[in-house]
Amino acid sequence: MLYSGAELNTILDKYPRCKLGFFPTPLYYLSNMSKYLGIKLYIKRDDFSGQSLFGGNKIRKLEFLLADALKKHSNCIFTYGASQSNHAMQTAESCCKLGLKCVLYLADLVGTKEIKGNLLVDKIMGAEVHLIQPLPNESFQDTIKRMYELARKQQKELEEEGIHCYDIPMGGANSIGTLGFISGFAEFENQSQTMGKQFDYLVHATGSGGTMTGLVIGKKLLGDPVTILSMDAGAHGADYVKEKVQMGNSTLQSMGLTESLTEEDFHIDTTYSFPGYEKPSSQANKAIKLLARQEGILLDPVYSGKAFAGLIDYVKKGKIPGGSRVLFWHTGGITALFAEENILGDILDE
Ligand SMILES: *Cc1c(COP(=O)(O)O)cnc(C)c1O
Repeated sequence: MLYSGAELNTILDKYPRCKLGFFPTPLYYLSNMSKYLGIKLYIKRDDFSGQSLFGGNKIRKLEFLLADALKKHSNCIFTYGASQSNHAMQTAESCCKLGLKCVLYLADLVGTKEIKGNLLVDKIMGAEVHLIQPLPNESFQDTIKRMYELARKQQKELEEEGIHCYDIPMGGANSIGTLGFISGFAEFENQSQTMGKQFDYLVHATGSGGTMTGLVIGKKLLGDPVTILSMDAGAHGADYVKEKVQMGNSTLQSMGLTESLTEEDFHIDTTYSFPGYEKPSSQANKAIKLLARQEGILLDPVYSGKAFAGLIDYVKKGKIPGGSRVLFWHTGGITALFAEENILGDILDE
């Protein structure tokens, strides 16, 4: 069954939600880049979502997640990520607005030397930051596992003191966070209908997968023929799509809907994540400079730059045919430009 945008919003209105961001975010045509690529290119500016100057895609998820935390009378929010996590920073900002304590457990994968970028914002926002250093010879998975164990221990202690903790997974990727991007897709649908334009492709960066899953559900429920191309920033394996199908289906179930997702609903490309998560690529850096110099818009080297590199390559290879109407969904992340140099790679080379 297909739903109208209004019907979908009525279903979403049943969930508690905090007002955190500035929505709808702007959606507009990029004339210089369109001419350069030979397509009709539009951008959706979720980097402008708020709270601070540094917004991003996690605010949409946090509107639902933190409302759930408040409903459960939690007063202390725990979340996780890498040291320069955009999700952690947006959680810290949002907790300030809602008067919640924020505890961040961050794995220091880049070897933090100075408090910069998102870490600086986290500290200014008053979040309690636990920076977890990988031990010698410890695998990435083991560092993350140890980080979760340390957090569990602290949560237990806080609960004993009568403080109610609420746990948000990395990237806010769970069945509740996903609601944020179902709502995001409904917002996009409303904007494209107002413009009287049908999009052929929607391109965005994927990481923990909540953005992608929400968009894919929104497309399915509203029956929009747009092809959603999810450019992976994390070089995920074969289980990734299976997990996201499951996560999406539990969201659909919680909405009381009988529709369900299959792996065929997703189009994930891991090519542009090379050489790995938080590791810079020349291709992404070239894409960042191209968009900056054509349109005066910044992207980030970890997510949106890699996704935009994918978009450019798809056009070059004809996978996105010339003349297509394409939306690039800007998911934020600009603070990474002001983080450790090893996130930036060769960006200053001409
Ligand atoms: C987290 C993030 C993404 C990926 O979103 P997920 O919902 O985690 O897949 C993309 N871009 C930026 C800038 C992000 O911070």
